[in-house]
Amino acid sequence: MNKNSQRMRVGKYELGRTLGEGTFAKVKFAKNLETGQSVAIKVLDKDKILKHKMVQQIKREISTMKLVKHPYIVQLLEVMASKTKIYIVLEYVTGGGLFDKIPENLLVDANGNLKISDFGFSALSQQCRADGLLHTTCGTPNYVAPEVINDKGYHGSTADLWSCGGILFVLMAGYLPFNGYKKINRPGFTCRSFFSAGARRLIMGILDPNPKTRITTEKIYQNNWFKKEYSPPKFEKDLDINLDDIDAVFSESTDYMVTEEKDIMPPAMIAFELLSLSWS
Ligand code: ADP
Ligand code: MG
Repeated sequence: MNKNSQRMRVGKYELGRTLGEGTFAKVKFAKNLETGQSVAIKVLDKDKILKHKMVQQIKREISTMKLVKHPYIVQLLEVMASKTKIYIVLEYVTGGGLFDKIPENLLVDANGNLKISDFGFSALSQQCRADGLLHTTCGTPNYVAPEVINDKGYHGSTADLWSCGGILFVLMAGYLPFNGYKKINRPGFTCRSFFSAGARRLIMGILDPNPKTRITTEKIYQNNWFKKEYSPPKFEKDLDINLDDIDAVFSESTDYMVTEEKDIMPPAMIAFELLSLSWS
């Protein structure tokens, strides 16, 4: 049968084309049949998650996405589960990836804003140890701060600044400042000659391998190059977020499972679909 004649439905969503593929997930375009809203659904295989002992990590990924509500972060709409799969319903971001490969996990929305899409390797301040530092090695490899890899504990926010510096460098140069985990302990990458003095000073300040002397967020906000044409994002902080739905998805309970079904389209419908394709 024609591939286009079958539509997969999960709960109130109709799944469409594949938007992207990650290590553990396939991301599909989908439509909420009740509201018409376009969404992206990350489909995870329960067996695979269990086999690779990824339950905690994925739970953390989803919880993080739910906890951080920000215009530049992809919003988690809901989570669903069936017997074999976990479905993470996300805000659909139209602009595609920032580059094909670098930087991965950054999408561009219809207004040209960057959005973070992937919290697969994330840690939150709640996970700090007694020393007040984080010890989870995490982050997208090309952007991860040296102290995160050295594993003597690190401050999450200072390490995040480094990653932002890496992204800023890529945005300006078109390639990565460092190559993967190995080389970043060495200072002295070369800033491009076409970077303005202001930009170079800021990037050097951020990509300082020593977290103790690295520029602070406060200093960045005072930096003239940074302030030029900067308009802060507007958003409301939601302090009362509840994670029960995420616990439910990872529980054995079948009470909340969604139905998965294939809609078989009658031949006449297929004909119309094909016609509408040729007109669009
Ligand atoms: P993984 O955690 O497996 O790396 P990602 O969350 O990075 O998965 O998603 C894989 C790919 O799917 C992304 O690189 C992107 O192309 C696409 N994608 C992810 N989320 C969205 C979204 N909300 N809207 C549109 N495309 C998305
Ligand atoms: Mg990814």
